[in-house]
Amino acid sequence: MSKVVIVTGGSRGIGAATAKLLGAKDYAVCVNYLANRDRANNVVDTIVRNGGQAFAYQADVSSEADVIRLFDAAEERFGKVTHLVNNAGILFTQSKLVDIDLERFSKVLNSNVVSCFLCSREAIRRFPPGSAIVNVSSLASQTGSPFEYVDYAASKGAMDTLTKGLSREVAASEIRVNAVRPGFIYTDMHADGGEPGRVDRLAPQIPMQRGGSAEEVANTIAWLLSDEASYVTGSFIDVAGGR
Ligand code: NAP
Repeated sequence: MSKVVIVTGGSRGIGAATAKLLGAKDYAVCVNYLANRDRANNVVDTIVRNGGQAFAYQADVSSEADVIRLFDAAEERFGKVTHLVNNAGILFTQSKLVDIDLERFSKVLNSNVVSCFLCSREAIRRFPPGSAIVNVSSLASQTGSPFEYVDYAASKGAMDTLTKGLSREVAASEIRVNAVRPGFIYTDMHADGGEPGRVDRLAPQIPMQRGGSAEEVANTIAWLLSDEASYVTGSFIDVAGGR
């Protein structure tokens, strides 16, 4: 089976590292992005320079119409989509739950969970046997992220439940669904939370005494997608330095 992967939010951070790694393996990669076309094109250029196949595609994965458009575009370009990484995600400024308004809560749930639902559903409708999904959850689903972003943590908890339930629905169709739960990873996301230096501040609380890199998360995602993980489904791997 020739492998075609959609990486949502592939323009930056964990998604970009994952797209590049899969592009260097034998996947044709659709690098999805929301707004950062230049960053997405840089990822594509890197993949193509290394002899791989990739293209960048703008779509808001919290929109049903955009998700259908995204899958159609990937199929038109490379043929049947066989793998999906539900990576796109957002968070907002650190805040107690009592100060979070409904608009923000809804936006976080739409961007992080509705997107995962829509992309997973579209994938399952089109996937041949032997396909796989990896959801990029977060260790926040276990900690709840009090005083920072309970909304974000709740979205990741929902993603975990979606992973477990869907994996059992499609296991007999030879489709695997797993998730990674990154801890504190060096990406732009912490600046969105209002604290660009957050990973360094929290590093002493991590058993391994350091934050993780996007590449370390990408390696785990690539393994879960691969045939080496052929008997692994409905599983979660914490990529969090021992937290
Ligand atoms: P990031 O650097 O902020 O990148 C976020 C990516 O998501 C960007 O490519 C962005 O596209 C894309 N995106 C956001 N909303 C989108 C939408 N509606 N449609 C399509 N694309 C969208 O984030 P990151 O740190 O790499 O995080 C990636 C994933 O890992 C997220 O799900 C996050 O929750 C999870 N995670 C991160 C950490 C961490 O410490 N960094 C820890 C645990 C889990 P544009 O570039 O176009 O804006």
